[in-house]
This record gives sequence, structure tokens and C-alpha cells, in this order.
Amino acid sequence: MKSSTIDSKLFLERLAARKAELIERLEQLEDVLDDPKSADFSDHATEAEFDEVYESQGKEGLKEVAAINAALKRIEDKSFGICMSCGDPISEERLQSVPHAANCRKCMQP
Ligand SMILES: [Zn+2]
Repeated sequence: MKSSTIDSKLFLERLAARKAELIERLEQLEDVLDDPKSADFSDHATEAEFDEVYESQGKEGLKEVAAINAALKRIEDKSFGICMSCGDPISEERLQSVPHAANCRKCMQP
């Protein structure tokens, strides 16, 4: 079995911090969506557009949280930094820019 030379502790901290940040932002988004009147809307069209933007941001955020949770699980399993597709180590450079990356650059979906 191949193993990674990546220091997963460093990434654990980064992932946990990023997750906390995302969850905080998602909670704020939820507040705004729950009570859109708290923002200053001039008409309903604006409000609908506003909801749409916030909802898509929320979806992106949830996707990232899920990816981070998966990465945290891989740290636990000691499979962090290993490509889920081909089993090769993911380059540290790639993990530095995307700590929750599950695939190496080669296997990355276009
Ligand atoms: Zn790969």
C-alpha cells in the first residue's frame, strides 16, 4: 500500500478552520433567507434574484463542507493525500491549494 509523505496534521487544522468558516457563512445565509425582509428590498424581483444568488452560494458551501468532511475522514483513515481514483499520492502543491482534494491532478475531473 502506498502512503503519503504529507503531514496531515497541518491540513487537519486548515480543513477544520475552513469548515468552521463555511458553516458560519452558511448560518448567516440561512438567516438572510429565512428573513429576507431584514435586507432592504425595493421590489420582489430583486428579492427573488437575491434568494437565487444566496441559494446557489449556500449549495456551493454545502458541497465544500461535504468535501471537507470526506477529507477529515481520510485523515482519520490515514488515506489523506492519496488519490481516490488511482491510489497515487496527491502532490503537496495541489493539497496546498485545495486541501480537500480527493483526486490527483491526473484524475481530476475536467
Ligand atoms: Zn489519481
